[in-house]
Amino acid sequence: MKTIGLLGGMSWESTVGYYRAINEGIKSRLGGFHSAKIVLYSVDFESIEKLQQVGDWTGAAQILVDAARRVESAGADFLLICTNTMHKIAQTIEKSIHIPLLHIADATAETLLQNGIETVGLLGTAFTMEQDFYKGRLSDRYGLKVLVPEEADRQIVHTVIYNELCLGHIRADSRAEYLRIIDALAQRGAEAVILGCTEIGILVKQADSRVKLFDTTAIHADIAVNFALN
Ligand code: GLU
Repeated sequence: MKTIGLLGGMSWESTVGYYRAINEGIKSRLGGFHSAKIVLYSVDFESIEKLQQVGDWTGAAQILVDAARRVESAGADFLLICTNTMHKIAQTIEKSIHIPLLHIADATAETLLQNGIETVGLLGTAFTMEQDFYKGRLSDRYGLKVLVPEEADRQIVHTVIYNELCLGHIRADSRAEYLRIIDALAQRGAEAVILGCTEIGILVKQADSRVKLFDTTAIHADIAVNFALN
């Protein structure tokens, strides 16, 4: 079994989900007392979030490159960045280490294509929904048509992520808003919706919605389990 490297803490609320999903995946594949070999570096999200707000992605990259190198030198065989948003600087991180990086958008796109999805809605932070590093990768590399919510709804999705989910606050009214926004994407032609922020799966579950949901935390954890065992 390979050792899985996790760059987490963005936020730690979602890193808990990665840790659980990866260990459950290894346990269900190997049985017995088997559990995942993991090196986790969990950053202080306060500093990352401040840098995001002012658009200082170079400053954020410095922190994450340093963390990724520590994960590598602690013995990880490959790396996951446990957030969609910070894949904005995935290339910089990838270039600074010698172990493979399993990109969350690649894992998600491959899963969507395996499920026959061509047009998909995307929920995430404003960075993820509005900038090209994520949407562009899904469309340019995989031919997916990506729909994002209208501007007012993007604001709601973004605000709930930072003001609630990253702080561990789960609210029924926010869940209802997310479900309304998911339905609106489906009405515009989305065959499925990507939960493209690693905390959204804490708020919205498949059982809540008739629309097929693809949770990036679950997908990313699953691909890590497969990679660790192959
Ligand atoms: N975990 C979130 C994501 O998947 C947002 C927090 C962050 O800005 O990294 O995008």
